[in-house]
Amino acid sequence: MTDLVRDFVEDNIADLHADLDAWLRIPSISTSPEHAGDVRRGAEWFAEALRRTGFPTVEVWETGAPVGAEGGAATGHPAVYAAWPSEDADAPRVTVYGHHDVQPVDPLELWETAPFEPTVRGEELFARGAIDDKGQLLFHLLGLRAHLAATGRTSPAVHLTILAEGEEEDGSEHFAQLLRDRAAELAADVVVVSDTGIFDRATPSMCVGMRGMTYCQIDLHGPDIDLHSGSFGGAVPNPATVLTRIVAGLHDADGHVTLPGFYDRVVDLTPRERDLLAALPFDEAAWVAGPAASRGTAGEAGFSTLERIWARPTAEVHGLHSGYTGPGQKTIIPTDAMAKVSFRLVADQDPGEVETAMRAYVAGAVPPGITASVTFFSGGVRPCLTPLDSPWLQAATRAMETAFGQQVLYTREGGSGPEADLAEILDAPVIFVGVGLPDDRIHAPNERVVLPMLTIGAIAAGHLWSELAAAAR
Ligand SMILES: [Zn+2]
Repeated sequence: MTDLVRDFVEDNIADLHADLDAWLRIPSISTSPEHAGDVRRGAEWFAEALRRTGFPTVEVWETGAPVGAEGGAATGHPAVYAAWPSEDADAPRVTVYGHHDVQPVDPLELWETAPFEPTVRGEELFARGAIDDKGQLLFHLLGLRAHLAATGRTSPAVHLTILAEGEEEDGSEHFAQLLRDRAAELAADVVVVSDTGIFDRATPSMCVGMRGMTYCQIDLHGPDIDLHSGSFGGAVPNPATVLTRIVAGLHDADGHVTLPGFYDRVVDLTPRERDLLAALPFDEAAWVAGPAASRGTAGEAGFSTLERIWARPTAEVHGLHSGYTGPGQKTIIPTDAMAKVSFRLVADQDPGEVETAMRAYVAGAVPPGITASVTFFSGGVRPCLTPLDSPWLQAATRAMETAFGQQVLYTREGGSGPEADLAEILDAPVIFVGVGLPDDRIHAPNERVVLPMLTIGAIAAGHLWSELAAAAR
């Protein structure tokens, strides 16, 4: 079957490569104040590229509050916004998310070629930002041109909005506020995130969810002075003992988290998703010995390693401190004990409910003579999940499968990111259409993009708008 999108992309791939070369030369490192001008220059460059692609509305949006009463320069890095309404009034609204800023490059001496002088070796292009995320934003521009050329349309099949953030690599400090301030312009039926990758080159996949998180510190106070354990031990409460009981009590013998109600809102994996996760060529032994640097696995009984890190909630202890930790022996009952604990959350858990349950658990576990405080550092991050039977996900899967020419599997992310803000604030499902590879060395020296992956990305993007429009009908 002829694929006009593929033909257009392949005939015009040089345009994508030329754009990539130009944009990657701008060192838009958002964490370095001395590169603030470059981040802005990178935003302006992308805005111009969107204009020449045909977007009728393109704006560079300031972020962060203006400095001073006079309203001086904004404190954040600018975002780029573009909108191209469909001539089909009832078409779905789609917002594409990516980011135009990049990570720092140090240690510079480990780069084989200069990070802001894009260099092609074989099918790879090396430069900071090549895949994270400039390459992935640019495949959308060629994909959109292919969509218009292949369908003969003069506007996209969806009401298309693009948002390129400028502070993703610097903590997205102003992102949630930007989404709230601009909710009208960004309103979407579905959000497409292009800032992630696939399982491996032979195994195309789409991420369907990210875990949320909430994080707290527990402080226990016992005697007001360190006490001699010979004179007082056994007769006054020891905060170190109490704290370790609290921490140990967070899990039962099967690795389940014991907080009452913790699992009430958890969306269970469906048998189909479990089958598809099991179909991923995950080499657990290599994972244990390699990235996990461990000698075994552990976790909630009844779940595989991928299920445990992607689809199940957890409680983890990050730090414990109490009493004497110097050399030799010192026989005290300590005054204080402290632990840092976080919970990774999955849909539809609510960080606020977990916080309430944790506070109640600690309060109920503290004996007379010990005072406890539990401090949560923020309101937490919500998890997000797009069910496999979502019509949007199925439409995007068809676009990806057409581009890859093979079945697409599903992954999730164990961590959390600004994608959760997109899902929550825009109140729309998030679909991840990305073509990064696990060994692209994002954030590291010699970041690269495998250029044929961008071709596939552009083909997927070129099919995506027709598929999403069809799904809405
Ligand atoms: Zn990124």
